Amino acid sequence: MQQFSYHTHTTFSDGRNTLDEMLQQAVNLGWKEIGISDHLIIHKNVKKSPFYHIFVERGVSHIYRDDFDKACEELIKNAAFFRETAAKYPIKAYLGYEVDFFTYKGWLEEFKDLIKEIDHDYLITGNHYFMSEDGEDIFDAYFYDNAETPEGLRAFETLLRRHYETIAKAVESGMFTFLAHIDYARRNHMHKFFPMIEEQKNIVHQLKKANMPCELSTKGLRRINDFFPSEPILKELISQNVPIVISDDAHYTTELGMDFDKAEAQLERLGCQNRFHLK
Ligand SMILES: [Zn+2]
Ligand SMILES: [Zn+2]
Repeated sequence: MQQFSYHTHTTFSDGRNTLDEMLQQAVNLGWKEIGISDHLIIHKNVKKSPFYHIFVERGVSHIYRDDFDKACEELIKNAAFFRETAAKYPIKAYLGYEVDFFTYKGWLEEFKDLIKEIDHDYLITGNHYFMSEDGEDIFDAYFYDNAETPEGLRAFETLLRRHYETIAKAVESGMFTFLAHIDYARRNHMHKFFPMIEEQKNIVHQLKKANMPCELSTKGLRRINDFFPSEPILKELISQNVPIVISDDAHYTTELGMDFDKAEAQLERLGCQNRFHLK
């Protein structure tokens, strides 16, 4: 069974346990390695997005940044803290980030400049937003709601299709080590009207082209009672020989390695032969 996770969170983003607590738990589980991948969400208008207040109320608004220079300072400090803390534990700890990919003019250049400045071992892309055509306005993909009228459904479909196109662009950018939760947007109750299988298969195609791995996330089991991704997409990934890594997307120590036995069984059943491992 896979004895590590590269998709985990601490109190540096919206995780509920500290870096020390997560590392100690990984050691307790007998793991030899772990990757910590706190959220990296930088968008100039994120604080104007309609659901931002929910995150303020939950006390996790610090993960939503609108200034690259300020973010850079915080990330440099975080890396120093991470290296110092990780050195205390008998485990190989990788420093990663889970990055939301945005498309407004200038974002990618600023992001590339930031990445050059900050100490890190790997980057995941995990996308949690819908956005306007120019990428300037963003809407949380889980909370976004529309009336189930013909107009409301059409507007939702447009946003959802654009969301999958954005993920494909993130993959194409070549900046990321692996892709998190392809079909996270299934958390939105309106997704059921639009399966978007072809759009998701296009992302698989891009992964294949870029030779980029994809996660099988057990977080879906806790959220929508199914893995991210769904079985048809996981089958497609496997048939294209895209490397797979199991993730727990742990936000608590108790979630580390959660349901990895079920994920292993799913991969075995579908004949997955290609597994991803950092270095
Ligand atoms: Zn995520
Ligand atoms: Zn995550």
